[in-house]
Amino acid sequence: MNIFAAMKPNAVYKSLYDIPLETLKEEGKTCLLLDFDNTLGPDHATVPDKYAFDFIEKVRNAGFICCLVSNAKSSRSSGIADKLGIPCVTYAHKPRPDGVYRALKLMDTPKENAVMIGDQVFTDVIAGRLAPVYTIMVEKYSSKEIWYVVLKRPFEKLVRLIGRF
Ligand SMILES: [Mg+2]
Repeated sequence: MNIFAAMKPNAVYKSLYDIPLETLKEEGKTCLLLDFDNTLGPDHATVPDKYAFDFIEKVRNAGFICCLVSNAKSSRSSGIADKLGIPCVTYAHKPRPDGVYRALKLMDTPKENAVMIGDQVFTDVIAGRLAPVYTIMVEKYSSKEIWYVVLKRPFEKLVRLIGRF
């Protein structure tokens, strides 16, 4: 896969709650691999909020299993995953796909049945597309984010403009 194809998600939604779970289910998807920072909650939060708890409950009720796939250091992301009651892959090294592979193994799920979901092209989308698994980008949870992500956003904007997504 060339790098431009790898930067384009299969679908983009405004938020997690806009993802058509029933359609994914019909397409054979069973497992959601979730980024945390600015996808499931505020950037660099240490505890999940209602938004995250409600979404995890929603996907469970829809019959999906899910796993956090985070680049964050293990203490913070595994703490969040514990509170949400879901497994977690820490130090995922996105945009490399190894964290996705580890999550697929952990969840005992073939890649055809998994969906990577995240808010950033240069980490989540590329990791998902390289794996490759079906990849969904959501708009960031909040405009507040850490400086090194802020630095990447103009380049991401350019990629989205060229790729039309
Ligand atoms: Mg993120």
